[in-house]
Amino acid sequence: MPNPKRIVIVGGVAGGASAAARARRLSEDAEIIIFERGAYVSFANCGLPYHVGGVIQDRQRLLVQTPESLRARFALDVRTRSEVLSIDRANRAVLVRELETGKEYRQGYDALVLSPGAEALRPSIPGADDPRVFVLRNMQDMDDLMKTAQAGDKAVVVGAGYIGLELAEALSRRGLKVTLVEKLTHVLGLADAEMVAPLHEELARHGIALRLGTSVQAVQPDARGLNVVLENGERLSCKLVVLAVGVRPETGLAKKAGLDIGPRGGIRVDAQMRTSDPNIWAVGDAVEVADFVTGDPAVIPLAGPANRQGRIAAEAIMGRESRYASTQGTAICKVFDLAFAMTGLTEETLRKKGKAFRKIYVHPAQHATYYPGSHPVSLKLLFDTSEGRILGAQAVGVYGVDKRIDVLAVAQRAGMSVFDLEELELCYAPPYGSAKDVVNMAGFAAANVLRGDVELWEPEELPLLTDQALIDVRTEDEFRGGHISGALNIPVDSLRDRLKQLPRGKELLVYCQVGLRGYVACRILTQRGLRARNLSGGFKRWQMCQGAGFVPPASESEMRNEEGGPAAGKGSRL
Ligand SMILES: Cc1cc2nc3c(=O)[nH]c(=O)nc-3n(C[C@H](O)[C@H](O)[C@H](O)COP(=O)(O)OP(=O)(O)OC[C@H]3O[C@@H](n4cnc5c(N)ncnc54)[C@H](O)[C@@H]3O)c2cc1C
Repeated sequence: MPNPKRIVIVGGVAGGASAAARARRLSEDAEIIIFERGAYVSFANCGLPYHVGGVIQDRQRLLVQTPESLRARFALDVRTRSEVLSIDRANRAVLVRELETGKEYRQGYDALVLSPGAEALRPSIPGADDPRVFVLRNMQDMDDLMKTAQAGDKAVVVGAGYIGLELAEALSRRGLKVTLVEKLTHVLGLADAEMVAPLHEELARHGIALRLGTSVQAVQPDARGLNVVLENGERLSCKLVVLAVGVRPETGLAKKAGLDIGPRGGIRVDAQMRTSDPNIWAVGDAVEVADFVTGDPAVIPLAGPANRQGRIAAEAIMGRESRYASTQGTAICKVFDLAFAMTGLTEETLRKKGKAFRKIYVHPAQHATYYPGSHPVSLKLLFDTSEGRILGAQAVGVYGVDKRIDVLAVAQRAGMSVFDLEELELCYAPPYGSAKDVVNMAGFAAANVLRGDVELWEPEELPLLTDQALIDVRTEDEFRGGHISGALNIPVDSLRDRLKQLPRGKELLVYCQVGLRGYVACRILTQRGLRARNLSGGFKRWQMCQGAGFVPPASESEMRNEEGGPAAGKGSRL
């Protein structure tokens, strides 16, 4: 259907506005109408938490475009406070209700684009419909929340996904005392537990009370406000609750029109974002896409994919061959001074899907350590066992997390392997990076594994092992500061001279602080015919696993910091 005369778009934010603007750039002739239920189009949903927290002070800054600016620049006919109620596919028309007046009318189309987004879930718990229980999806939700959220009050945020975390920080910056409740035993359920353990400490450091592994049973009003009743029996008194327990594709309109819905509950589309009706396209949070790694249908609600899909739908409508390939799920979240980012699949998902993988951990600094202000980036890389293709990556740290995950997302998209990561030539001067960047280091560590230069041991296997000896190759000071119970300390620099002190006939499980000296030690040992394996990511990763509960917590005597006090912590802030 090249150059249709009339394009109607449902939803005027990320996907819808992108589709409209792209369609106009491709055709000055088409009539393009956007219907938006809310009062605003093209607003920055992703910016909402930052206005709540006062980082974006001017509310107007969230309104990226207005109906007037879209009319002026793109000659779009934008109708806000207009809800599309149904689709008459046979006659190619939608039924629209003007929410201000209640007036209903039909609007014909040649091509229809659905970008209705995803609705914020409201779990069916008693009290969830109290007006002091909020969700955050749009400007109105934000305004309502901000009217109620007063400094000094207590707030409970339910759900520690990206939005829950951003909101916990935002409300705390606003001066509220925040408790964050999460049903899982770690925040960011999409991530691997040990990789987000540092976020738990970061939240605690900023006064957020965390309640993990428990869910909300009820919200009860009382004379002072609300009581959030937890599964574990605890009652949290507060003035307001924000539910951030996830989203569900808004498929009501599509279902009513008889469009195909996929197995994950999103609108089914082909690579050109076309639904089961050849005249209707769908994009954004409401659709199912192919997962990049597995090709399986997935619902991945992110702004980047929604924008790109909107663009592709417009191109397809205009007769171009553009195709949407798949979604990697590249995402990032700020939690006070830390950033967590990921792309591709996690270890947990790979296990669930029964996909073979290997993994390594590295913690290099984001730039040369001799240049002031260096901080480690803790990075986990998952790759396939044969060719070393990148399956996923997660990173946490203060600086440079976005850059490394972006590089890895591009590498993954390009089908690169861990051997290619060794070769990447990335920016370097001391204030910005290192001659061997974090990504190169991850490539070296992973390639070493696949080439058989080193074998690894995993913290989880330790309790099951009997015929092994733990060797800590860090300095004596580091060892005194905290070590794995039962380890023998032989610093790597004296290892060649102290080989006789190693337990005979046992496999040696070596570790250092971040994995590098352990690797060197393993090379020394295996070239002398000894059996040795290294702990990728070293003691630091061990501590992250402790934070995640994979390995037993250290006793005080095992975990002493250099000053002799209790060690910095299980997850160890980066
Ligand atoms: C608080 C918050 C923070 C976020 N932060 C990030 C982030 O940092 N990074 C990121 O990648 N993603 C983020 N997201 C997700 C991102 O905003 C969404 O993935 C993206 O907006 C999806 O685009 P969409 O066009 O599918 O839906 P939306 O942008 O939600 O737009 C859908 C619009 O359709 C309208 N609509 C629905 N049904 C009808 C109807 N029948 N008639 C008329 N109008 C209708 C709705 O009112 C809505 O305005 C965030 C989301 C929220 C809520």
